[in-house]
Amino acid sequence: MSSDFDTSQVNTWCPGCLNNVVLRSVKKTLTALVESGVNKRNLVVVADIGCAGKFYDYLNVNGFYALHGRALPTAFGIKMANPELKVLAFLGDGGAYAEGLNHLVHLARLNPDLTALVLNNRIFALTIGQVTPVTEKGYRGSTTPEGSVDSPYNPLSVALSAQASFIARVSPLDPASMEAVITKAINHKGFSLVEVIQPCITFRLSDLQRLKEKCYSVAGHQEGDYLKAREVIESWNYENGRIPLGIFYRVNRPTWEERHQVRNWFRLKRRIDKSALKKEWR
Ligand code: SF4
Repeated sequence: MSSDFDTSQVNTWCPGCLNNVVLRSVKKTLTALVESGVNKRNLVVVADIGCAGKFYDYLNVNGFYALHGRALPTAFGIKMANPELKVLAFLGDGGAYAEGLNHLVHLARLNPDLTALVLNNRIFALTIGQVTPVTEKGYRGSTTPEGSVDSPYNPLSVALSAQASFIARVSPLDPASMEAVITKAINHKGFSLVEVIQPCITFRLSDLQRLKEKCYSVAGHQEGDYLKAREVIESWNYENGRIPLGIFYRVNRPTWEERHQVRNWFRLKRRIDKSALKKEWR
């Protein structure tokens, strides 16, 4: 099905990669946003590096390729420069939970109105299968041929501690629910973190069956209850147990833009005195 958001870029994801399912859902969500009155020119995608970063190549919107792990501060900078933009960042679990963890913590705390989609397949996939901080102990990859000896941490629990106002997990194995949650995340006023849990079918094909068996929906969960959110988020430690899907936490609190009273300052006409600049840099 063609979309206004299609690009002419050749899709270089592996055939059958579930990123394609996520891409389809994102295109449908963005199409609905535009139909509801959002100006397409005001949509901005920020991409990290890796398989997740390629979303920008395949989405016909304004955007920016950030450095590895730096998609979130870049997205925040874009939002600060023009708060009217709707900013959506795409990251992998390496970029978001390893190199970029510090940024994730501070965006959760500061609550700018933007959305982060973390495509989590529990490895660095583009660089052929190294462990990330959410890879389970024992995983045999290119840098851990005898099995990883380290246990993962729980990034959603960290985001909750840092006061994130919207935390969810979705799976492309359930595209309808994924689409509904992504729409809510984009419409949420504040920082929304959506983890997309999925198998990398090239390096972790056995995860496909595991995710089918272990994922379950928390529909009906009380989204504003902090303690319940902690309970459900910590019920899966990225190694053992069932994997909850859905919106775990959603509260309204003032966004960074509201607290800083950022309104129309970016519309002000500035007169730049070029001769003064020349003198300064001479
Ligand atoms: Fe998808 Fe894995 Fe291939 Fe990357 S390496 S495109 S995540 S299947």
